[in-house]
Amino acid sequence: MPQIARSRKSISRKPYRVGRSKTGLGLFAIEPIRKGTFIIEYWGRRIPTKITDSLETKYLFEINSRWTVDGSTRRNIARYINHSCRPNAESDIKKGAILISAIKNIKPGDEITYNYGKGYFETFIKPKGCKCAACIEKRRLARAEARAKNGKANGTRRARRPKAAKSSRNAAS
Ligand SMILES: [Zn+2]
Repeated sequence: MPQIARSRKSISRKPYRVGRSKTGLGLFAIEPIRKGTFIIEYWGRRIPTKITDSLETKYLFEINSRWTVDGSTRRNIARYINHSCRPNAESDIKKGAILISAIKNIKPGDEITYNYGKGYFETFIKPKGCKCAACIEKRRLARAEARAKNGKANGTRRARRPKAAKSSRNAAS
């Protein structure tokens, strides 16, 4: 039966690989992944959620108020998936397992991303500035718009601080 042949293939060959991304490492599709398809499980040691504040790892994934998965082991390939504000995958908790599946059709070469959620974003990503493709594009457009506006307003470049003033301040300190 063709269905059996297809499922065997997907078991033996994973549709992704770890590779270089803008922020370090990421997970990339090497085969087309159809919308709605399960991609990978995020797994690791199960620890009580109430003790997670004392842990020095950013690979925690809270399942519920009782249990959290510490996914910091390198064998947890899903930990290489980066955050995006406009992701092509999502995480879902089913019977205590964290399952990541595609929410868009993903092409070979595309980076696989999901949204880490508000709590993680506010704590770890926002302070440094989000580096996802959607945010980089948003900032680029904002800069271009600001430049266009400044250009219209005065038509001159911002004046530089005089050299003399700078060196005298350095001498005083
Ligand atoms: Zn973002």
